Amino acid sequence: MQKKKLIVDFDDTIVESIFLQRVNRFLKTSYTFDNFTNYYIDDIVPIDKRNEFFDSFCDTNPYSDVKLVDGARESLEKLSKVYDIYICSGCVMYNMPNKSAQIFAYKYEFLINNFPFLSPQKFIFTNSKEIISADIMIDDYLSNLKGNIKQKFLFTSYHNKNFSDKELEEKGIKRVNSWKEVCQILL
Ligand SMILES: [Mg+2]
Repeated sequence: MQKKKLIVDFDDTIVESIFLQRVNRFLKTSYTFDNFTNYYIDDIVPIDKRNEFFDSFCDTNPYSDVKLVDGARESLEKLSKVYDIYICSGCVMYNMPNKSAQIFAYKYEFLINNFPFLSPQKFIFTNSKEIISADIMIDDYLSNLKGNIKQKFLFTSYHNKNFSDKELEEKGIKRVNSWKEVCQILL
């Protein structure tokens, strides 16, 4: 029997946000995820320093010391035996499209080095996730869960905690709080 197609997001689903660490380093602060409820952590950088912040953003690989979300690797390895897994991730930074080429390479390298059991042929790098058609999709960003997907899961992250279960249910989406929970539902 053909395996079901499972689409998994990358940032804030497999790896923790790269922006928190970068913002803290730039502003010499020690913010934690609890300090943010908006998706764009970089909004905290004062307007007059934003250009400088983004100019330095891609100078070194922001994924070189990023943390994996707890249980992501083990869970994806188990899931890969049962599902046909595709990683789908946007690489074009909305405010620095001309500097985003490196992001494609950084993410690709991270995935092949840390997830050797996934097929690089099944990495999809697009910001237009509404074109995706699949059985299941897991993503932390609500707007990304708009494609032709039978089962949609919102992966809990600092910026999406305020959506109620009822609100999500109306959009045909179920919240999952951890990779452990993903495995309990899908395996
Ligand atoms: Mg994400």
